[in-house]
Amino acid sequence: MTIDPWRITGQSQIDSYVGRWAEFAVLLVNTLAADRAHGRTVTPPADGADRLTRLLAALTPPAGPLTAADADRLAEVAAGLRPLFADGPPQVDRLNELLVRHAAVPALYGDPPKLGFHRLEADLVDAWAADAGTALAMVIGVGQGTRLRSCQADGCDLVFFDVTRNASRRFCGLSCQNRAKASAYRARRRG
Ligand SMILES: [Zn+2]
Repeated sequence: MTIDPWRITGQSQIDSYVGRWAEFAVLLVNTLAADRAHGRTVTPPADGADRLTRLLAALTPPAGPLTAADADRLAEVAAGLRPLFADGPPQVDRLNELLVRHAAVPALYGDPPKLGFHRLEADLVDAWAADAGTALAMVIGVGQGTRLRSCQADGCDLVFFDVTRNASRRFCGLSCQNRAKASAYRARRRG
């Protein structure tokens, strides 16, 4: 059997596109739409200025010229993406609507050309929403939707994209994993 190197390269570039934008979807949801994090209630930012401050703090590297109005629109995008990380069958209709709303379409940019999934003339919010939504659609569309997941620890709704080999990740991070372990240990001792 011969292995065609072009296909290998192409596949890993598609994977990295999906990974990058799925992580961006995670960042949007956790920054703008989470109610509980690491065992504590958090108040999602409630107005454009507050949303913008939190977004700028979360984005590395910092994004281009974002406004408070953009941040408000991104909060809507985050609210639309969040249910895709919930347990149960993926909310395909909602994602399809989001892709239409933000005019997701494959297109080539720059020189050398790079593949993206927003119109060339799209504004930043539409471009981000279209690219992030497309990445989640790719994950779901190849039967990997259960990798879009919420933290299983008590009092934490943060979401993540599970890239472990056997899709076994349960927590948003180490602090929740440790808290869950400690509470399971206490429960065993009580039992
Ligand atoms: Zn957590």
